[in-house]
Amino acid sequence: MSEAMSLQKRKALRLKGKPLEKLLNQVYERANGICEKCRKRAGVEFHHIIFRSQGGSDTMENLIFLCKKCHGKEHHLNIIEGE
Ligand SMILES: [Zn+2]
Ligand SMILES: [Zn+2]
Repeated sequence: MSEAMSLQKRKALRLKGKPLEKLLNQVYERANGICEKCRKRAGVEFHHIIFRSQGGSDTMENLIFLCKKCHGKEHHLNIIEGE
């Protein structure tokens, strides 16, 4: 089997409904409701470190709570790195 094929078979954990709500709550609590990078509270939202389109999972490890500014940076960085 080629390497590309085994990469495609990597299984992502996807949550929805109540379990997703619970996970997002846990991330929010870990972050204390503020950006986990710059500690600002303005315009915070959840971000997947590995994008869901790239097989990222809905887990504590793959989710981070970021303000709009840091969130935008994350996506910009990922684009530069080849997203
Ligand atoms: Zn921030
Ligand atoms: Zn994001």
